[in-house]
Amino acid sequence: ARSSLKVLVTGAAGQIGYAIVPMIARGVMLGPDQPVILHLLDIEPAAEALNGVKMELIDAAFPLLKGVIATTDPIEACMGVNIAVMVGGFPRKEGMERKDVMSKNVSIYKAQASALEKHAAEDCKVGKPLNSPVLVIANPANTNALILKEFAPSIPGKNITCLTRLDHNRALGQISESLDVQVCDVKNVIIWGNHSSTQYPDVNHATVQTSSGEKPVRELVSDDKWLNAEFITTVQQRGAAIIKARKLSSALSAASAACDHIRDWVLGTPEGTWVSMGVYSDGSYGIQPGLVYSFPVTCKKGKWSIVQGLKIDEFSRAKMDATAKELVEEKSLAYSCLN
Ligand code: NDP
Repeated sequence: ARSSLKVLVTGAAGQIGYAIVPMIARGVMLGPDQPVILHLLDIEPAAEALNGVKMELIDAAFPLLKGVIATTDPIEACMGVNIAVMVGGFPRKEGMERKDVMSKNVSIYKAQASALEKHAAEDCKVGKPLNSPVLVIANPANTNALILKEFAPSIPGKNITCLTRLDHNRALGQISESLDVQVCDVKNVIIWGNHSSTQYPDVNHATVQTSSGEKPVRELVSDDKWLNAEFITTVQQRGAAIIKARKLSSALSAASAACDHIRDWVLGTPEGTWVSMGVYSDGSYGIQPGLVYSFPVTCKKGKWSIVQGLKIDEFSRAKMDATAKELVEEKSLAYSCLN
């Protein structure tokens, strides 16, 4: 029998947490043959609710779930974990300035960096590729991931990523709806940059599998105006649209995207397909190193690599630079909050 992997979920009593834990326990994240032990962390005020989540996990009798730790102690939660999904964070409440949320969250991520660094599985520390992914979901996701990376220097930068897969999936969904094709036949959209409204959803390299072969989305969607304007804003604003409709932020789609992100990272992307991940920039596409920026990536044997050589037109260049500029500003704001 395969040995269990320990998966940390922070903010596990929250709504994304509630949606993601059954997915992980059913094998959606790591495959139907991989047993898991869930390490659930939340803060003291959420302790009772967290215990309720643990009770429900026991009651669901998931065959793959070999244990549940529910705790408010970051050290206990991080102990020996192989994969970390960081959902916990302070939500932006009415009347709060961006700087207030930033300040609260970067402090949390700085503290969690040291807990992870000291207590996660050896693999996580020495960077054996398969067992070490860290995924940051809490907003500002890119900047929280950056802080986590910078304050956990012994975790290889390649192991720390942030979630833009939900934006990527939203883009696939919009193309599929607009062309009335199956979403599984659409691929290779790109989310560039920040997981914020400055992100750039790019369809210039996206394709659709049709009965007469693979066709570029640009060829199938005759309405350039839609692709260059409404499509982009719909994807950028989708989170707000969900809040308006549900009176709560997206949770099941965020949880599902997080499972997609880890699964593709650990088990690999299909041949000829790339996905979007927020990763530490190496200067590819002229994006300055030292930012966590969303790029198109392929994954193999637990390692991601940025897809190289895509042609970037002027329209895309301007949008990619604008979202990079926002990340530079967020980074300096984050550091000013920590000082
Ligand atoms: P959610 O589970 O809905 O969201 C968690 C985090 O994910 C938020 O920061 C949210 O940002 C972010 N997020 C990123 N992408 C998305 C997306 N596409 N859709 C929705 N959210 C997204 O929040 P809850 O308030 O229900 O749960 C948060 C949990 O974290 C609570 O249980 C709380 O106790 C815990 N917490 C932990 C802290 C810690 O670890 N120290 C500190 C504070 C809270 P956004 O708010 O911008 O939507």
